[in-house]
Amino acid sequence: MMGEVIMRQKLIAGNWKMYKTTAEALAFASEFTNIYRGGEHEIALCVPFTQISALKEVLADSDVKLGAQNMHFEEEGAYTGEISPSMLVEIGVDYVVVGHSERRQYFAETDEIVGKKVKKAFEHGITPIMCVGEVLSKRDAGAHLEVVKKQVDGGLSGLGADFVQRLVIAYEPVWAIGTGRTATGDQAEEMCAFIRETVRELYGDEAASGLRVQYGGSVNPTNASELMTKANIDGALVGGASLVPESFKAIIQYRTNASIERQDEMGDIPTGK
Ligand code: PGA
Repeated sequence: MMGEVIMRQKLIAGNWKMYKTTAEALAFASEFTNIYRGGEHEIALCVPFTQISALKEVLADSDVKLGAQNMHFEEEGAYTGEISPSMLVEIGVDYVVVGHSERRQYFAETDEIVGKKVKKAFEHGITPIMCVGEVLSKRDAGAHLEVVKKQVDGGLSGLGADFVQRLVIAYEPVWAIGTGRTATGDQAEEMCAFIRETVRELYGDEAASGLRVQYGGSVNPTNASELMTKANIDGALVGGASLVPESFKAIIQYRTNASIERQDEMGDIPTGK
């Protein structure tokens, strides 16, 4: 829709993957809460299952929300090694990452499985962060939009528009994850805008305007501002750089970094007096 002004709160979420013991997670939390006191963005840490309860306790007085990195779509059953939605509800997570490219690649998660998890998470009051993104050969072949459209269609199939409106989609080009090679601001914006348009076609204006689309893939304190100041990028899913309190904080405060850099370039900013 032309000319709409929608204020979506950005979600900056750490994805710790299979890093940190509980002792290391607690050390992170104590340092992070010392240097970061809250701000305009929503902040979450998506951590290994074993750390969630301990972090929940120490972060209770902070604005930092918690997420899991995976979840089964069945309520319960003989699924050795899996974690159910109710188990996550019981320990109090707000978010669950679903369909991360590492799960698609190493654990054979298909769009259909991702879709079931998205639905199940919403049924249990947990907000899914659904990851999509193309591999390098698809981008080089010019097929990136097509690949991501298929993942969005598949992951959202059968979901009501009221849920889509509250969903978070993380656009994570596989070639940018953990590689130090980020998408440019324009590449990321093109895809995030395309995802919103795809959702608009399928679910209408309200769903598209409410949907938050994050960028993920080698986000760091230096590139955060270029990415997150784009109109259709509503935050970031941060892997490696979220493991260190200082760099996670610097990403969250990307506006401050950007204005400090500008100030450095421009010398003293005139006060107008
Ligand atoms: P990265 O990981 O920031 O280390 O590239 C992002 C992710 O996989 O979510």
